Amino acid sequence: MRIIPLSEGTFTIDQTKRLVPFDASSHQLTDRPVGSLLVEIQPFVVITSKDVLLLDTGLGLKKEGVLQLHRNLMDNGINPGEVTKVLLSHLHKDHAGAVGMDEGPAAELSFPHALYYVQRAELDYAFEKGSASFAPASLECLRGNPQVQLLDGNGETDGYIRYEVTGAHSPHHQAFWIQEENEIIFFGGDEAPQLQQMKHRFVAKYDADGKKAMELRRKWWQLGEVEGWTFLFYHDVKHPSITFPGLP
Ligand SMILES: [Zn+2]
Repeated sequence: MRIIPLSEGTFTIDQTKRLVPFDASSHQLTDRPVGSLLVEIQPFVVITSKDVLLLDTGLGLKKEGVLQLHRNLMDNGINPGEVTKVLLSHLHKDHAGAVGMDEGPAAELSFPHALYYVQRAELDYAFEKGSASFAPASLECLRGNPQVQLLDGNGETDGYIRYEVTGAHSPHHQAFWIQEENEIIFFGGDEAPQLQQMKHRFVAKYDADGKKAMELRRKWWQLGEVEGWTFLFYHDVKHPSITFPGLP
């Protein structure tokens, strides 16, 4: 399978949850509010023998009317119309920014030929919870849309994509495993966001259930090493992905 990271840039994020662009050549982390974290915003494309998969959709920023996500895809030789499935780990603003072309219920989906895989409870929760973590107006296009597969819990699609509700970073967060032949790609969204969270055990304040998230990370890192997974890190500024060779 071919993996293409689609970075939208590096940012700092502090307690206000605001993302501020960070340019390592001119900015200093020490100039940002205490406790600021350095994060990448980085959706992925995975090209398999059956699909062009998009994993999460970034911030939804536009330049001259064109979505940054579309531009990044085209720079990699992929037309947005070629994406066949959009797999959404959860619907926080920094992951679901570009599900649609615009805000509001009448907006077109940004991937006209793709099926979108969303947990039903996550979508409901986004509207219930509102604008603190979600951008409900930009999610309205997902409601009642025939392209959207509303998932109820764990399952599998097309015999090679598995999803599991993990619910630690946010209550209805899901993780994905994509398996073709001997290759396993793991996308844990914000429950496996960066390499350092996988290597070091700590309870993070940004997780709804910090202890559960920590346990999941430990479990996945161990299992990934044994089974030779490739981890995709949505928020890692240095390592978009890491592949374990697998144990004999
Ligand atoms: Zn995130």
